[in-house]
Amino acid sequence: MLTLANRITILRILMSPLVAVLLLYKQTGAALILFLLAGITDGLDGYIARRHGQRSALGVVLDPIADKLLLASAVIVLTVLKELPRWFTVIVVSRDFILLGGGLLMWMFIGKMSLPPRCSGRRPRSSRSSRSSWPCWTISFRCSPRRSRPRRWSPCSSRPPPAWIMSTAGPGSSAISKRTPMTFRSLAIQAVEPDSPAARAGVSAGGILVSLNGRPVEDPLALRFAETAAQVDLVWRGPDGTERRARIRKAEDLPLGLEVAPLTMQACNNRCRFCFAFQNPRGMRRALYFKDDDYRFSFLHGNFATLTNLTPAGMDRIIRERLSPLYVSVHATDRALRNRLLGNPAAPEILEQIARLARGRIRMHTQVVVCPGENDGEALARTLEDLAGFHPWVETVALVPVGLTRYRERLPVLRSADAFQARSLLKWLEPRRRRFLRDLGTRFAFPSDEYYLLAGRPFPSGGRYEGYPQLGNGVGGSRRFLDEFRRLARRLPAWVTPDCRVTVVTGALGGVLLRGAADRLNAIAGLRVDLLPVANAFFGGSVSCAGLLTGQDIVRALERRRRALGEAILIPSVSLKEDEDLFLDDMPLARLGERFGRPALRVDATASGLLEAIPRD
Ligand code: SF4
Repeated sequence: MLTLANRITILRILMSPLVAVLLLYKQTGAALILFLLAGITDGLDGYIARRHGQRSALGVVLDPIADKLLLASAVIVLTVLKELPRWFTVIVVSRDFILLGGGLLMWMFIGKMSLPPRCSGRRPRSSRSSRSSWPCWTISFRCSPRRSRPRRWSPCSSRPPPAWIMSTAGPGSSAISKRTPMTFRSLAIQAVEPDSPAARAGVSAGGILVSLNGRPVEDPLALRFAETAAQVDLVWRGPDGTERRARIRKAEDLPLGLEVAPLTMQACNNRCRFCFAFQNPRGMRRALYFKDDDYRFSFLHGNFATLTNLTPAGMDRIIRERLSPLYVSVHATDRALRNRLLGNPAAPEILEQIARLARGRIRMHTQVVVCPGENDGEALARTLEDLAGFHPWVETVALVPVGLTRYRERLPVLRSADAFQARSLLKWLEPRRRRFLRDLGTRFAFPSDEYYLLAGRPFPSGGRYEGYPQLGNGVGGSRRFLDEFRRLARRLPAWVTPDCRVTVVTGALGGVLLRGAADRLNAIAGLRVDLLPVANAFFGGSVSCAGLLTGQDIVRALERRRRALGEAILIPSVSLKEDEDLFLDDMPLARLGERFGRPALRVDATASGLLEAIPRD
C-alpha cells in the first residue's frame, strides 16, 4: 500500500518532466514555482514519514530518485538552453547518477540503500539504593537514585560524576543524542513479550508503533503513560509496512508487553560556567563530555534540568502526563544573573516556567549551585524567597558548592567554597531555615553534606532532613551513613578470628567522616581497618569525592602504603563503573588486585556494605 509520504514523493517525480517542459517553453516563472513546490514536497514527505511512522523501504528508494531526477532534469534543460555551462552539468549529473547507481546496486545486492542525506528530506537517525551511603565516598555527586530510581549523573549539578558514568547508557539503557530540541520519531517495536496483551493482539517485533489511543507515541515514557489505560486502541505498522489496528482490553496498569527503542537523551543548550562537562581532561569517555538537559530524565532518574530547552509542547506534556516531581536547576531567580551563569542569554524566565508547572500541580525539587561571589549573598536570598513563594509545589532547594577541576582553561574564573565560606553560608542560612520551618512547615533549603564537612560542623540530625528528599544530590547521605553505622555497630562482635587487616579507600573528604567508623571497627580485637583517603591528582581543583577517583591515583596512594595494606583492599562501588569493575580511567579493578598481590574488592557504598565486606567470625 502506498503511504501518503510515498504518494507525495511520486508527485515530485511527476513534477520533474513538467519542470523540464516549462523551461523548454521558456515559462521560467511557472517552472520556478513548480521547482519550489517540488522542493517543499521533499521536506513534506520526510516530515510525514517521520511524524506518522510511514517510513518504508519504497520511500527510501523513491525519495533520492525523485531528488536526483528533479535536479538533473532542470540542469540538463538549462544546459540545452545554454543557460548553464556543459562542464557544470556533467559534474552535477554524473555525480548524482554515480551515487544513485551505487545506491541501487546496494539495494539490489544487500537490501540497503544509503545515499547522502539532503537538508530537508528523510535522514538517518542516529541510566543505589536509598540506604545510607558511605559519606564522602558518595558526597559531592548527584548520581544516587531518588527513592528507588537510579539517578544518572548530570553535569548540571556542577559536581563530579560517579565513576559509572562511563557508557552512553547508565541505569536503564538510554542513549544520548546531540540533537536539540527534542524531535519526534516513531517507535520501533524491538520485542513483544510472549503472551502479553500486545502479543495476543498480533503485534510482532520489527514493526513501528504508530499511535496509542489516537495519539502518536513520542517515546517510551509516552508509551508507559498511554498503556496504563484499561482499553488501548493500538495502531502499528508491521514489518511488511502494512498498517494494523487492534482494540486491546486489559487490566488497568498492565503493560502491553512492547519493548521499544530506548529514550534518547537530549543535549542542553547552555554553556554553564561551572559545567563539569567542560572541566574534564581530554581523552575521557564520551559520556563525560555529554551535556544533558532532559525533563524526562529529570522525572525518571532525578537528573537536574534547567528547562532552557523545554518547548511549549514539552511543558504541556509534563502537565498532561503529570511528570512529577521534577528536579530543576535554578541557580538564581534573577534572570540576568541566571542567564550569565548558564552562559545562555536566551534562557527563558525560570520563575514563569515554575509558575506554570505549579499551576499544573507539578512538584519540584530545585538546586542552586553556589558560586562564591556570583549567586550567593543577596542573590541567594532572593532566590530562596522567590522559590519559597511557590511552596508547596517547589518542595525543596538544595544548596550545592560549585565543583572545580584544574582543567578550566578558557573558562571564567570561579572560586570554590573554602572552610570560611562554608561556615558563613551555614550560619547565614540557619535563621532562614528556621523561618521557613515556622512559615512553611519545612526547612525548605538544604545545604549539601559537603558544606558541613568543609566547615567542620556536625551534620543535622536525621529528622532535620525531613525524609531526605535530595539524598541523591549529596544532601543527607552522610547523616544516613552515620545513623545506619551506629545502629549496626550495636551488633558488632568484640573480636574477630583470625586476625584481619583491610585498607579502605575513600576520597579526601571521606577520611574525615569515616574516621569515627574506622575507630569503632578498630576497637574490635583482631581487626584493623586502615583508611586511605586518596587525593585526586587527576582532576585536582576542589574535587574530593570517591566517585571521581581514578585507578592511577589509587595506585599511587596504595604504593605509598604497600607494606601495610592488609589482606584486602576495599574499593567503594561509587569509584567503579556501575555495571563493570572499571575505574574512571578504564583501569580494571582486577589489575589493582594483581599489582598489590591481594584481593581488591568492590564494596557497596553504604554502612551495611562496609560492615558486610569486613571478614569476621
Ligand atoms: S551546560 Fe548544560 S549540562 Fe552543563 S551544567 Fe549547564 S545545563 Fe548542565
